[in-house]
Amino acid sequence: VRETAKTRAPATPERSSVKLTHPDRIYWPGEGVTKEGLADYYTEVWKYIAPFVVGRPLALLRGPEGITGQTFFQKHAWKGLNSNIVLVKDPTDTDDEPLISIDDLDGLIGLVQSAVLEIHPWGSTVANWERPDMIIMDLDPGDGVAWDEVIAGALETRERLERAGLNSFIKTSGGKGLHVVAPVKPKAAWPEVKAFTKAIADSMASDSPDRYVSTITKSKRKGKILIDYLRNQRGMTAVAPYSTRARPGAAVSMPLEWDELTPGIGPAYFTVLNTPTRLASLKRDPWADFRSAAAPIEKSKKKP
Ligand code: ATP
Ligand code: MN
Ligand code: MN
Repeated sequence: VRETAKTRAPATPERSSVKLTHPDRIYWPGEGVTKEGLADYYTEVWKYIAPFVVGRPLALLRGPEGITGQTFFQKHAWKGLNSNIVLVKDPTDTDDEPLISIDDLDGLIGLVQSAVLEIHPWGSTVANWERPDMIIMDLDPGDGVAWDEVIAGALETRERLERAGLNSFIKTSGGKGLHVVAPVKPKAAWPEVKAFTKAIADSMASDSPDRYVSTITKSKRKGKILIDYLRNQRGMTAVAPYSTRARPGAAVSMPLEWDELTPGIGPAYFTVLNTPTRLASLKRDPWADFRSAAAPIEKSKKKP
């Protein structure tokens, strides 16, 4: 059926019925973002964020008192978790500690009710734990690296992925850097995926040793960009597209079109406050083709 004004779904966005306790609690004091404001933000971005947070194991940064209080990075379920959050069992885990997942908008708002300030999914789904469906190259600029150089690093990462047969997408981290994310067909298992991303990071570092490093030794990072490929390891996570960050400024990790990657848009440019305006003014979702662009990681003899 062709979509017409008549057949199109009503514009009213889906709403969650999850009850928030302490809705007026301030989570980001600088911006005045409350717990309820955070729930409204996630309701607004739900259709965009859903493919990246539903049905995956999630690590969560929680802060019951907001970003100025104590925060906890949690990979396992805890007591008092909102009932809309789904507990899942890592098939290789020998302990009884379940991991955390969500299935729907109530699950997402359940995370807000549980004081989650950042959402960090795995690169694989609970339907296919061992075979990731995306890889992420995390560009971490060391002290003294200009933003232009980080942009150039992202473009080079994209080019190398493309030469290896993968399409990639770009997002701000909401912190200091950029994330180049490539959807992959869930065929290769974690060790192969890690080796693939390590090879890209290593060849960037050996071709341009003045610009890039691929090892995490802090002392070697001054003036260079760490190509952090270690997100692509079983059990490791990276912040989700559209996730908020528990940092001053209420920034979010924002998916962009590649041609939006300009000096005017820094890593923390998009926030809880300006995202609704951005989404309303977009002609199309910059990551709309993310899943359909997935290609397999090929064991290639060519150097990346
Ligand atoms: P930036 O652009 O500032 O580097 P980022 O999201 O890429 O932002 P970090 O916030 O430094 O980087 O986190 C790096 C990764 O380590 C995150 O993607 C997260 O999944 C993981 N991580 C974050 N905090 C913790 C923690 N306390 N313990 C273990 N892993 C963590
Ligand atoms: Mn980073
Ligand atoms: Mn990193």
